[in-house]
Amino acid sequence: MTPQHHDIVPDTKSCVTHLECSMTNEIIPADELHNLSPHGYPILVRYDLDAVRSSMTKEVLTSRAHNLWRYRELLPVRRVENVVSLGEVMTPLITLSRIAAKYGVDAQNIIVKDEGRLPTGSFKARGLALAVSMAKELGVTKIAMPTNGNAGSALAAYGSRAGMETIVFCPDDTPKCNMDEIALQGARLYKVNGLINDCGKIVQDGKQAAGWFDCSTLKEPYRIEGKKTLGIELAEQLGWNVPDAIFYPTGGGTGLIGMWKAFDELEKIGFISAKRPKMVVVQSSTCQPIVNAFDAGERHAKPWPNAATYAAGIRVPAAIGDFLILDAVRESKGFAVAVDDDQIRAALDEIAKVEGLLMCPEGAATFAAYKRALSDGRVGTDEKVVLFNCATGLKYPMPDGGQPLNRHEKIDYQTL
Ligand SMILES: *Cc1c(COP(=O)(O)O)cnc(C)c1O
Repeated sequence: MTPQHHDIVPDTKSCVTHLECSMTNEIIPADELHNLSPHGYPILVRYDLDAVRSSMTKEVLTSRAHNLWRYRELLPVRRVENVVSLGEVMTPLITLSRIAAKYGVDAQNIIVKDEGRLPTGSFKARGLALAVSMAKELGVTKIAMPTNGNAGSALAAYGSRAGMETIVFCPDDTPKCNMDEIALQGARLYKVNGLINDCGKIVQDGKQAAGWFDCSTLKEPYRIEGKKTLGIELAEQLGWNVPDAIFYPTGGGTGLIGMWKAFDELEKIGFISAKRPKMVVVQSSTCQPIVNAFDAGERHAKPWPNAATYAAGIRVPAAIGDFLILDAVRESKGFAVAVDDDQIRAALDEIAKVEGLLMCPEGAATFAAYKRALSDGRVGTDEKVVLFNCATGLKYPMPDGGQPLNRHEKIDYQTL
């Protein structure tokens, strides 16, 4: 049987009430198209949490399909026919017990949430599934976006699925696999001689003339709602508990902000306690604007000059939601860590060889940061941590492997 919308999305209602400016709390009406708030800040979506509490109980959830639409009441899409889905599965938690043993950590305490299993191979699918569904609900037909790769791929895929036109701008040194998948999935792709912020400026400058809806992260209200499901899903998988720390590879920070919002909503509907994980920002030492702002005690980050890193997904020199990231990290008693590209490569190699799990570079960065935090005591061996692997490692260039074997010569089997 072909799955129908009603098998994917529960037959209940979104409990969205209104939107809000994340800086001024000014109320903004739902059900209209918005980018930033009138004061120029990201917009957050608000819900009638009493209504959520009575419709979406823990018990009710046990009978729902295992995808992100199971949290329908806490998501903004009003009409089921506007849901654009490519099969957003719940992603597994993978315990790294061999790695834990190596570092003297309790066996169950290092967990990877493997987001590489999602459509288009990254957690950008969560955000773009919601953004494109809402764009459909609000009548958008043309969407433009800057990307470091994975977001563009997800936009292209969900946009094509919704029959929309998509226009994507990426730095011209974005991983090749990302550029090719974006174009193959139906977007018009432009490779720009600059960084993601330069691409963002092109979208901004052109949107009036070209009639594009700007889908840059945090410049539209719904990608964060999709990313919020990272936090809801994680808490549900841990039996409605949160871990002691979450290591998050931070570019624009949408996922970190989204999870923080999720925990707040989950506490208000009585699903989790007041306990919060330490939220840990992980960046590359060659692009660490948020780490610097955290260390300097500032609420906004200075743009990072000449940003470069092998972990392309976190090469974001300036994040519009910087204050939301920094607020969450501080409130959570978390911290911010930068790691070198060499440490990221070594971390990727180590998990691949010891655990058989191929992380993306950004995901590997969280393990490098975890090892650092373990050695300087900012996390303990008795603390349960979740490392985010945001994309499948298969999308990234890999070192050449293997060696030739000539079958026409005598093979010395004992030396193979
Ligand atoms: C986008 C991306 C990130 C950063 O996520 P944000 O929520 O934008 O900070 C990290 N890793 C990968 C693989 C990504 O695609």
